[in-house]
Amino acid sequence: MQLSVVVPCYNEEESVPMLVDRLVQAIEPWADEAEIILADDGSSDETWAAIEAAHRRYPVVRGIRLSANRGHQVALTAGLEAAKGERIFMLDADLQDPPEILPDMMMMMDRGYDVVYGRRAERQGETLFKKATAYLFYRFLNTLSDVEIPKDTGDFRLVSRRSLDAVLAMPERARFIRGMFAWAGFKQIGLEYVRDPRVAGVTKYPFRAMLRFATDALTGFSTKPLKMATRLAFLSLYVTFLMAVYVFLSLVLHNTAPGWASMLLAISFFSGIQLLTLGIMGEYIGRLYMESKQRPMYFVAEETGASDGPAVPQNLREPLRREAS
Ligand code: UDP
Ligand code: MG
Repeated sequence: MQLSVVVPCYNEEESVPMLVDRLVQAIEPWADEAEIILADDGSSDETWAAIEAAHRRYPVVRGIRLSANRGHQVALTAGLEAAKGERIFMLDADLQDPPEILPDMMMMMDRGYDVVYGRRAERQGETLFKKATAYLFYRFLNTLSDVEIPKDTGDFRLVSRRSLDAVLAMPERARFIRGMFAWAGFKQIGLEYVRDPRVAGVTKYPFRAMLRFATDALTGFSTKPLKMATRLAFLSLYVTFLMAVYVFLSLVLHNTAPGWASMLLAISFFSGIQLLTLGIMGEYIGRLYMESKQRPMYFVAEETGASDGPAVPQNLREPLRREAS
């Protein structure tokens, strides 16, 4: 198998038919040795039916349906784990990333690159808020994180088998896939493209999901926020010292200290810092806890077009069999 295409789909019933049409066109030169894997992330609409229909229409299409909604990065991971190709192309279901760029990416890979990622030159049809937060996020992340994560990139990319295997060997559950590829190393290069608006449906990343994604990225690739607590402590010591000078002077000069203002200031300042520090520690401890549980990231509920039978995990098959008997 030369090429695997992996697409996470969550409530994309409208996008799937268009997506598949354009993908089938784009992979034409490699069609004999290719597969398109659509990972349904526990959609609540007719996405799975759309995937099954796509499989009947084009046998290169395979579907995996997760047992519940696990989020973009896990759905993508499920697809990547199912992929058998020597090269793996991943993109979003909403066609914001043009599949037509594939031949260019293939050409770059022929020149010896292991990862060819799409770099967004322009984003169309996205809110100013989304663009601004994305812009700030990638810059902030890079000042904090220990690996250089390419700016303004998504998971839209073509990767080689060995770089994918490296990423799949990383066992963390909180996944930030573009960062994991950056960390894995190998030769990487960006290819500029214009990010189109969604073809259908609405974004599956409300502000809450964006925030979770950003904290996963930060805590997954940097321990600097933890160390920030030390710096904050020094800062607060310094401020305390200044306040002490002020209190002492006012005591000597006016004989009265107008107490409550500075008291209030001090209390709110230090409790703020303490809460912040606790919060940062909490983020890491929470993640340690989640990782230590070692839960499987996802379960496959259904598959279509799998060549070697359903890969339903053992722990899911067990209760099913009991139900039947
Ligand atoms: N997605 C997913 N599970 C989720 C949320 C999103 O599989 O819980 C998929 C979605 O179907 C799409 C991709 O992740 O293919 C990116 O989502 P979206 O286009 O909504 O994000 P945006 O482009 O607005 O950042
Ligand atoms: Mg999108």
